[in-house]
Amino acid sequence: MKTIDELIQDGVTGKRVFVRADLNVPLDGTTITDDGRIRAVAPTIAKLAEAGAKVIVASHLGRPKGAPDPQFSLAPAAVRLGEILGKNVSFATDTVGDSAKATVAALGDGEVTLLENLRFNAGETSKDDAERGAFADALASLADLYVGDGFGAVHRKHASVYDLPSRLPQAAGDLIATEVGVLKKLTDDVQRPYVVVLGGAKVSDKLGVIDNLLEKADRILIGGGMSYTFLKAKGHEVGISLLQEDQIPVCLEYLARAEKRGVEFVLPVDVLVSADFPDLKTKAPANPELVASDAIPADKEGLDIGPKTRELYASKLADAGTVFWNGPMGVFEHPDYANGTRAVAQALLDSPGFTVVGGGDSAAAVRILGFDENAFGHISTGGGASLEYLEGKTLPGLAALED
Ligand code: ADP
Ligand code: MG
Repeated sequence: MKTIDELIQDGVTGKRVFVRADLNVPLDGTTITDDGRIRAVAPTIAKLAEAGAKVIVASHLGRPKGAPDPQFSLAPAAVRLGEILGKNVSFATDTVGDSAKATVAALGDGEVTLLENLRFNAGETSKDDAERGAFADALASLADLYVGDGFGAVHRKHASVYDLPSRLPQAAGDLIATEVGVLKKLTDDVQRPYVVVLGGAKVSDKLGVIDNLLEKADRILIGGGMSYTFLKAKGHEVGISLLQEDQIPVCLEYLARAEKRGVEFVLPVDVLVSADFPDLKTKAPANPELVASDAIPADKEGLDIGPKTRELYASKLADAGTVFWNGPMGVFEHPDYANGTRAVAQALLDSPGFTVVGGGDSAAAVRILGFDENAFGHISTGGGASLEYLEGKTLPGLAALED
């Protein structure tokens, strides 16, 4: 992969540089609730601007259906990016239309613009090579050079991630270089014990990584929504908890393999349950009930790990040489269900090892719960991307930067 320093050495002054960033930040209306991803890519943009490039930043946000949808506008991200860079960031209200063309044409050396959400154009995510290619052609006509730095999107075979870099001289941004460096540390030559903590809500997305980690990790601790499918697989009732019934055979296979390989596979021993999902807007008291994980009432759902599990997981992390954590332990957005996630975050900080937090919500949780993000070894901007890397898959957006 070519670095941006090499690209700058070749000369970027006066050149239009397209930076594929990942500004897919959580929004509450038009308020950005966690700007971690914007801050993470800002140094790349600043470096290119300082070198005199005309910087065109582009990203997706959320999952609009291939057409403009105001609730997914990147306009708030342009404002925040401008604040972080300490300079004006102009905003194009489309991706490859009149606004984008005019905004790019108006860029002076060292100036920065942000295009509207790439997914407002159906070509961005299309499965049809020609449709994606046509959108990539249109994007390519806006720029002279390409920098891939949207780590959170490199597992997607999308026009701006996969097709565009083959159309322009390209380099990998500093964020991608850092993220890949960290993931290499988690795959080659890890410090042991290697402890993996998995949670969150996207159960089937995350089961795949266990397959590979069973060959590498020493301990796997499960929390959050995915624990209930494992508990059910072990024959326990899980009430109305998040459950992926069709994945039970996969869970059973993993449990058997873990035992065979001597990997400690740890499930919650107690959980906080309630008949109702908490109100995340009002944060009204949820009054959860604490039960053993093999005694979840039929009419209740598990929403966080309990105190015994918090202590158990902290003890399993206390001597870790390496930790990879993806997925909150509970519905941390509500204070009554944040203690499991808080305890795991604290245990990472207390452990002597190299600690990596991956996953959009996990990274946001760490910051929202008030932890110092710099105290962790690394907070990744990509959840799905880091999981697929650890699964051993080829990531289209990284492959495209290899040539
Ligand atoms: P990440 O973005 O870190 O990869 P996910 O997107 O998979 O994580 O999951 C994050 C979400 O999981 C959070 O919004 C949290 O509220 C939810 N969650 C965690 N535990 C549970 C649970 N037991 N039941 C339902 N949702 C849960
Ligand atoms: Mg998420």
